[in-house]
Amino acid sequence: MEFDHILIRYGEMALKGKNIKQFITQLQQNVQQKVKEFPNVKVKRTQGRMFVILNGNDPEPIMEKCKKIFGIQSLSLAIKVDNEVEKVKEAALYALKQAKNVNTFKVTVKRINKDFPVRSQEMNQLLGGHLLSNTEGITVDVHNPDVEVKVEIRNEATYITSSVIPGLGGLPVGTSGKSLLLLSGGIDSPVAGFLAMKRGVEIEAIHFHSPPYTSERAKEKVLDLAKQLTKFGKSIKVHIVPFTKLQQEIFREMPDAYAMTIMRRMMFRISEEVCKKEGILSLATGENLGQVASQTMDSMHTINEVTNYPIIRPLVTMDKQEVINISHEIGTYETSILPYEDCCTIFVPRSPKTKPKRDKVNYYESTHDFTPSIQEALEGIETLKITDKNNSLNPFSDLL
Ligand code: ATP
Ligand code: MG
Repeated sequence: MEFDHILIRYGEMALKGKNIKQFITQLQQNVQQKVKEFPNVKVKRTQGRMFVILNGNDPEPIMEKCKKIFGIQSLSLAIKVDNEVEKVKEAALYALKQAKNVNTFKVTVKRINKDFPVRSQEMNQLLGGHLLSNTEGITVDVHNPDVEVKVEIRNEATYITSSVIPGLGGLPVGTSGKSLLLLSGGIDSPVAGFLAMKRGVEIEAIHFHSPPYTSERAKEKVLDLAKQLTKFGKSIKVHIVPFTKLQQEIFREMPDAYAMTIMRRMMFRISEEVCKKEGILSLATGENLGQVASQTMDSMHTINEVTNYPIIRPLVTMDKQEVINISHEIGTYETSILPYEDCCTIFVPRSPKTKPKRDKVNYYESTHDFTPSIQEALEGIETLKITDKNNSLNPFSDLL
């Protein structure tokens, strides 16, 4: 006997009526996508539950994949048996014995199949007695047990579990449209991407690259971060924008103090064009109020003027430490702190305006025609598709 299923709970109650169907269908697709590399693993759904059928595969790596899928409230390893009392008893004992460091337990029976001859309450006692007489040094505690052996008697079979692992919650990626994430190599933007995905948003990424001031390694770092985000969703298209010429032009033609603001405006202008081309309806950034000069209220106001696309800023109210904590949890921190130069740290003006005003910036921009360079940047975009499969983190290795 062994755990042969993963039971997935998805907190359906929290969802509004007509979205439930889309939510569940998308969740099932996402789970299917993540487990399809394992031979013969199947995903199916019955009355408010989803199951991964392991078909002889080691549960651990599959569980690890499922733990990273948004929309899952909790997961349990489960044993499936026929709706027969003796089989249920045997499976419940197995499930209890799999749990570690157990002094107390309780049994909870849910009888969804009303044709099952033994009622829940009776079944509880019957199983409790069976477990007590077949183990040593373990007692029942109905209020605060170390282990809860849960028995769900369903129409097609009975499922027994003895542990509950929390899922990530959120909504299945793909249920809330798409966003273009401005992905730098820093700590913040990958976390912003993760949090947008948690709301069901599918991500494409855009990165502004300034060779030779920024190296191939800086670009790889960004692709590596995108790859880490794919673990929580689908493959991610990354648009790499050649930004050198435009950036040099900004720093040559515009007053030093306004160069940073204008550079940010250019990023948004170019990003909006990419959105139009890709059919994406919003942008996402790692901006956070009050961290640096480019992220004051005045600055946001002035930078935001160039686009009326919604901008998702999941970090806007967070403390840096909260962001760092999340980046550790999702595994992007170590990559983010690698010391490769970033286009924004290279072209930093000596004293950027912390309170740039729209009218001033509009005036300066009107004194120079940036259109050809913007166009050139757009035409030079290189688009890569990053999946969580390719083992090489470095698709450019042959260029080095
Ligand atoms: P991060 O840690 O994400 O780099 P940050 O705290 O360094 O953020 P800024 O450098 O002001 O803050 O950048 C603000 C946001 O602008 C970033 O979170 C990111 O969304 C976007 N951004 C900055 N630089 C780039 C870039 N080179 N390519 C794409 N997006 C960028
Ligand atoms: Mg940065």
